[in-house]
Amino acid sequence: MAGRDAKVAFIGLGHMGGPMAANLVAAGYPVTGFDVVPAALAAAHTAGVVVASSASGAALGADVIITMLPAGKHVFAAFEGEGPGGGLLAAAKPGALFLECSTISVEDARTAHEMVVASGHRGLDAPVSGGVVGAEAGTLTFMVGGSEEDFAAAGPILEVMGRRIVLCGGPGSGQAAKVCNNMILGVSMIAVSEAFVLGEKLGLSHQALFDVAANASGQCWSLTTNCPVPGPVPTSPANRDYQPGFAGALMAKDLGLAVEALNATGVDAVLGRAAEEIYREFALGGGAGTDFSGIINTIRDATGGVD
Ligand code: NAD
Repeated sequence: MAGRDAKVAFIGLGHMGGPMAANLVAAGYPVTGFDVVPAALAAAHTAGVVVASSASGAALGADVIITMLPAGKHVFAAFEGEGPGGGLLAAAKPGALFLECSTISVEDARTAHEMVVASGHRGLDAPVSGGVVGAEAGTLTFMVGGSEEDFAAAGPILEVMGRRIVLCGGPGSGQAAKVCNNMILGVSMIAVSEAFVLGEKLGLSHQALFDVAANASGQCWSLTTNCPVPGPVPTSPANRDYQPGFAGALMAKDLGLAVEALNATGVDAVLGRAAEEIYREFALGGGAGTDFSGIINTIRDATGGVD
């Protein structure tokens, strides 16, 4: 269904959606796009996306409709809202396949899926990890929720934009996997950062702690790829004054979604909840635009500097 002749509508052409749509164009898909921000539309036009004057206009006649929007409320507004940014469900042809790629709550993803199906369409939640770099390079990881049949139909399109594409289960499972993964990430980055600050206090060099932990049971992505101190991993954001990378605002957002899921399920996750508080304060206190590994500086500040 989603072969090269499939008509694609792309709604939300921001940091992620812009390069994802550009990759689909480069792979030969006819892509019509819409964004409520004119500058995003202009950039997409330069990349070969046919520009529509409304979301519903982009969706007319499309086989596949991709949404890449900031949050759940934007997804609902795009699906059913009035005005240029809304009306997708009514405008799409019967049986169109919706790929909802934004990061939203599991509950919102399930509601969005019900709305899609109730309107006579098909849908997958397909949030991503890999950031803007992955979106540009076409190397995103897609975590997908929905039916096997729809997953198979979406495969060729997702493979253009991503490298690893995992069907996680039924509707909402993609968002569930994303929220669980990012809860691990938030907690592990705080743990690694606390260990480096403790090491500093104990007189350990960063390199010595890295050499041990990276080859021992402390090993994790927050240590060996996104190391929060400069030096041991030259490509980590710590080496460029914590320019993202993965911004503190996005970590705070994703942990907020994790806490929503924790509350809905009643899971007693002390560390997940603590991480959400820590990153919410980090984002509010100036860390929103810096890499989330900058949390190490917050820990140092609270500790009172390095002896
Ligand atoms: P962004 O704000 O750059 O892009 C979102 C775009 O959606 C904006 O250009 C906005 O104008 C547009 N928009 C909002 N409502 C619209 C509507 N009704 N119709 C058309 N356009 C509309 O955000 P982003 O960084 O591209 O992130 C998009 C999603 O991907 C978010 O849910 C985010 O959490 C997730 N995500 C982002 C990253 C990242 O590194 N940026 C990584 C993984 C996941």
